[in-house]
Amino acid sequence: MLDCAIIGGGPAGLTAGLYATRGGLKNVTLFELGLPGGQITQSSEIENYPGFFEHGKTGLDFMDSWQKQCFHFGLKHEMKQVSRVSKEGKHFSITLEGGECVEAKSVIVCTGSVPKRAGFNGEAAFFGKGVSTCATCDGFFYKNKPVTVLGGGDTALEEALYLSNICSDVYVVHRREHFRAAPPTLERVEKKENIHLITNSVVEEAYGDAMGLAGVKLKDQEGNVTDLPNTGLFVFVGHDVRNEVLKDDSGAFLCEMSEWGQVVVNLSMKTSVEGLFAAGDMRIEAPKQVVSAAGDGATAALQVISYIQEQN
Ligand code: FAD
Ligand code: NAP
Repeated sequence: MLDCAIIGGGPAGLTAGLYATRGGLKNVTLFELGLPGGQITQSSEIENYPGFFEHGKTGLDFMDSWQKQCFHFGLKHEMKQVSRVSKEGKHFSITLEGGECVEAKSVIVCTGSVPKRAGFNGEAAFFGKGVSTCATCDGFFYKNKPVTVLGGGDTALEEALYLSNICSDVYVVHRREHFRAAPPTLERVEKKENIHLITNSVVEEAYGDAMGLAGVKLKDQEGNVTDLPNTGLFVFVGHDVRNEVLKDDSGAFLCEMSEWGQVVVNLSMKTSVEGLFAAGDMRIEAPKQVVSAAGDGATAALQVISYIQEQN
């Protein structure tokens, strides 16, 4: 029986593992379907993690020492995909791909959330080289330069407002006339002089060369093509929260979820189910940053230590 099963080995899961093992829990296993590190390993540069400011270091370099530190304190890693977490009586059952089951007294779920892709030409080729899904991470690289934002929901418009304080101009491209975002957010956007709304249009193509993105071509409903050269491109067309492990065969979730599929937690990262915690990008109100995911992981692990002490 594990004291704690941690599911997902990104910044939240690894930090939870560090705090749980260094805090004295003996039997803690991290289940990660690939190599630990999480989404940030896709990043070519990280500039906003406090204390880490080395140019030329990728997200992969950055996460390397996180794993070593956790394993040093006794965290075990199983490179396995978890298919289900359920609770029977006081304990949890973790079903792994292939059907094997592991029992645990507590669980911290840290499976993250993946930004959706829009599907235009060049999106994959220039992802991380001018095409981004994170304004907080990459907006600064476009200080006093123009950027394009794709999407018409709350995220797109809120991130456009954030970018408008850094960039010279923000072109918001939306495929319909009406925005999905809340009216007060749209009003704030409309009042910003350097935000330009381009409706009934889609991104036709992101183009560039080996150096990265050089510009964006838009197409409107009449087929007219507009070129926006020298712009960064931020894509905000929704998120897929990786919450499948909490779902049973009927589609019901183990714990309370938000209407957008995020796990509802309190400030201690406790879910509605005793002994079950969630941390990182998959929880409600997540800032979707490495530093906040790591903070969540630490918070959850400290709660788990108290929970296990009470149980014993
Ligand atoms: P993730 O990092 O998403 O980790 C979740 C892990 O769970 C993954 O490793 C996944 O394989 C695993 N997993 C999922 N399902 C299962 C399952 N069923 N079984 C087992 N394992 C599973 N943030 C910053 O602060 N600064 C930046 O500069 C920055 N740049 C970024 C650049 C890019 C290209 C991307 C994609 C993100 C960037 N971010 C940045 C955001 C940051 O990466 C995330 O906020 C952070 O990684 C979230 O951590 P997490 O642990 O919650 O989830
Ligand atoms: P969203 O509401 O699903 O909006 C996605 C936007 O992207 C929509 O405008 C959609 O267009 C567009 N889109 C989708 N696929 C596209 C494609 N392939 N090409 C071009 N455009 C595409 O996602 P979100 O903005 O991330 O928000 C998710 C949820 O979180 C929402 O319910 C939102 O209200 C909520 N949220 C709330 C807040 C807040 O309350 N402060 C902040 C952020 C998010 P269509 O409109 O035509 O479908």
